[in-house]
Amino acid sequence: MARYTDASCRLCRREGDKLFLKGQRCYTAKCSIARRSFAPGQHGQGRKKVSEYGLQLREKQKTKRFYGILEKQFHSTFERAEKLKGKTGDNLLALLELRFDNIVYRLGFASSRSEARQLVTHGHFVVNGKKMDIPSITMKAGDVISVRESSRKSPKFVSLTNARPVPAWLTFNEETLTGTLVQVPSREDVDIEVKETLIVELYSK
Ligand code: SF4
Repeated sequence: MARYTDASCRLCRREGDKLFLKGQRCYTAKCSIARRSFAPGQHGQGRKKVSEYGLQLREKQKTKRFYGILEKQFHSTFERAEKLKGKTGDNLLALLELRFDNIVYRLGFASSRSEARQLVTHGHFVVNGKKMDIPSITMKAGDVISVRESSRKSPKFVSLTNARPVPAWLTFNEETLTGTLVQVPSREDVDIEVKETLIVELYSK
């Protein structure tokens, strides 16, 4: 699977926002956005005027990078969102939140979405009792996610600490290392500061 391998903090600086790509470091004074809150590169501190297209593009890039996915997969998620009932922008964010790797991150099993993706592909989880190692799969209400029996003694899960609150649309049992997807998240449940209507406008051109 193709993936972005350049410096993560450059992406946050490019978008001018914290995308929380590096786990615990994002919550410390070492965060690059806190130290250099301008775009990377030679012209990072210049060029302030942004066109309408530029604004739409930045919102799309920010959202894509926040969830750590590449263009092809992001666009196909958008196409699925368009086919669902309701607002396309809300559907898009809900589908992104329902990705398996995002849910593993939201439940606190990983400190970043990239770590969550790695844990998933390494086969550490079961969904409704069956092994699941596909990070992009869409979860549905009622799904139960837990750590595989053979992985429970791994230091990663024995000393699990999560400083982030678990969102209201999920529940988590620390004793059994099990999470449940209670309901599909609404727009209000999604904490990313993004104007999803700009993404819809961009792809509708
Ligand atoms: Fe972004 Fe985290 Fe790097 Fe800060 S530390 S710039 S939030 S990836």
